[in-house]
Amino acid sequence: MRDVAPLKNLTPTELETWVQEAGQPVYRAKQLLKWIYGRDVENFQAMTDLSKDFRAWLTRKAHVSCLRRESVVTDVDGTRKLLFRLWDGECIESVLINEGARLTLCISSQVGCAYGCRFCLTGQSGWRRDLSAGEIVDQVCGARRELGPEERLTNLVFMGMGEPLANFHQVVKAIEILTADLGLNFSTRKITLSTVGLVPEIERLSRTVPVKLAVSLHAADSDTRSRLMPINNRYPLEQLLEVCYRLPLPPRQRITFEYLLIDGVNDSPAAARQLARLLKGFRAKINLIPFNEYPGGLYRRPPSIRIAEFQQILQEKHFTATVRQSRGAGIMAACGQLTHSHQASSASSD
Ligand code: SAH
Ligand code: SF4
Repeated sequence: MRDVAPLKNLTPTELETWVQEAGQPVYRAKQLLKWIYGRDVENFQAMTDLSKDFRAWLTRKAHVSCLRRESVVTDVDGTRKLLFRLWDGECIESVLINEGARLTLCISSQVGCAYGCRFCLTGQSGWRRDLSAGEIVDQVCGARRELGPEERLTNLVFMGMGEPLANFHQVVKAIEILTADLGLNFSTRKITLSTVGLVPEIERLSRTVPVKLAVSLHAADSDTRSRLMPINNRYPLEQLLEVCYRLPLPPRQRITFEYLLIDGVNDSPAAARQLARLLKGFRAKINLIPFNEYPGGLYRRPPSIRIAEFQQILQEKHFTATVRQSRGAGIMAACGQLTHSHQASSASSD
């Protein structure tokens, strides 16, 4: 499978070059894109407006699908967790979340993650490999197949497994395909990328694609942040906030700061006040994420009253502070609960 070209890895411009190098006219790229993304067709033989010879050649030299869907598990709250197997046997998870008029897909960017945040299950077993652009894009194609006739994906968030900015090139390429008219045609305003806080890549991203940015802050002081997130030793809180402050944001767009609330660690009223001082003057929203527990995890979710108090302190200081509803916790699909360590035998269908 690996000696043939995975077409979902190619941006529309790259596909044009590729078909021309194959001796075909450039408009063949458009035809292929319509079949692949417009009609979700994977079998070249079904692409009836291509010549028989070209179809036979494509069958030998290329393939469309990058992922095999192994299972879908649905939570009582409607959240669907999709397990995909990659060509080399590795596994990734994506999560479909229904929130009123919105239908969001949470996508993975790596198998595992190298950043080892203490509270995150994905980070516990380390990094295995980066995903290709095609493997990122194919999560969206795979999720679309699960939708009912009335459903339409409205938003994409890079909040699944992995650190998207550590796989910069493939993630940017995937975004190009996801937002191309003849690709999946998403608006950049409907795509949010969450990062652990890689300072140079945050700057680079802002110069490359205008997707929305969410930054995992999780502490209002550097000591607490370092204890929770080893990355803080490389890019300390002050440096991270400085780059965020200088980001050229489009009009009316705000940066989101994610703040995990962990019982007894960073959830005190004093921490809320400190956070308010730290973010004074930012065009920002604060998204409070009550910790999602998992077996063997070190931390606990704070009591609801403390979450509400934390939120209220921020709101009194005139911040937009929302509490993220935990979705999919019943099927281990909530933030921080995704893992790549699936045995082939554990993946039963539906
Ligand atoms: N690597 C990126 C994106 C993936 S994680 C990042 O760290 O931002 C997406 C979000 O889930 C991050 O804000 C992360 O801190 C949060 N998260 C991780 N473990 C969690 C847990 N157990 N409960 C709630 N949120 C968690
Ligand atoms: Fe990686 Fe994000 Fe989990 Fe940290 S929170 S270990 S960066 S996936």
